[in-house]
Order: sequence, then structure tokens, then C-alpha cells
Amino acid sequence: METDCIFCKIVNGEIPTEILYQDDKLVVFRDINPHAPVHILIVPRRHIRSINDLTEEDREIISHMIMVGKEIAKDQSVNSSGYKLLFNVERGGGQVIFHLHMHLIGGWKKK
Ligand code: 5GP
Ligand code: ZN
Repeated sequence: METDCIFCKIVNGEIPTEILYQDDKLVVFRDINPHAPVHILIVPRRHIRSINDLTEEDREIISHMIMVGKEIAKDQSVNSSGYKLLFNVERGGGQVIFHLHMHLIGGWKKK
């Protein structure tokens, strides 16, 4: 755990946050500043700075994040309308929280 990392604090329960799903590898909660009707973050418990810092041993957590994302999309009823699974990588890629996370974004109104 990184002492001044917001997501480590959420994962460890130091910042009270409604948890939508959790297991021994990751936690899932709503984005505090949603960009769409459904905007959820899928966050590994282990502090990894960004996609750039992934190692061979992280293959399992990345695939698990995607599989959980798929299930959360179904729970949130955006699976058939469609959604984005997104990683922002480092500052130029829009990352502002340097604890790896995947955005699940969807639920836009049909035109
Ligand atoms: P990034 O731009 O790093 O990929 O995304 C970080 C996301 O975390 C942003 O969409 C931001 O709104 C969200 N966020 C930042 N601080 C908090 C927080 O304390 N609680 C929650 N639930 N989301 C946060
Ligand atoms: Zn962290």
C-alpha cells in the first residue's frame, strides 16, 4: 500500500466508499465524477502505478478485471446497449490517479 494513494485508501476502507463488488484481487466502486450515467472503476487491491508497470505476474489480474467488468456491465444493464472499458495511461493519456484502474462507462441515452 502507498500511504498517500487515494485508491489504496479506498481499497483498505480508510475512505468510506460504496463497494459494488469485491474479491481478494480487486474492488469495484462508482466514479466520484461520472462522465456517463454508468461510470464505474475496477481497481486491483495491489498498488500498481499504471499499465506501464505491469509484469508477467499481472496477467491474471488484468484478465480478471476484464471478466469482472463484463459481469458488472450485465448487473448495470448496459451489456446489450454497449459500453467502454478504458485504461488511461500516464499524464498524457489522461491518468490522474496513479493506482491502476479500468473505467467501465456506458448507459448513454439512445438517439
Ligand atoms: P483517471 O483519469 O486517473 O483514469 O481516472 C481517475 C478517476 O477517479 C476519475 O474519473 C475521478 O473522477 C475518479 N476519482 C478520483 N478520486 C476519487 C475518489 O475519491 N472516489 C471515487 N469514487 N472516484 C474518484
Ligand atoms: Zn494505490
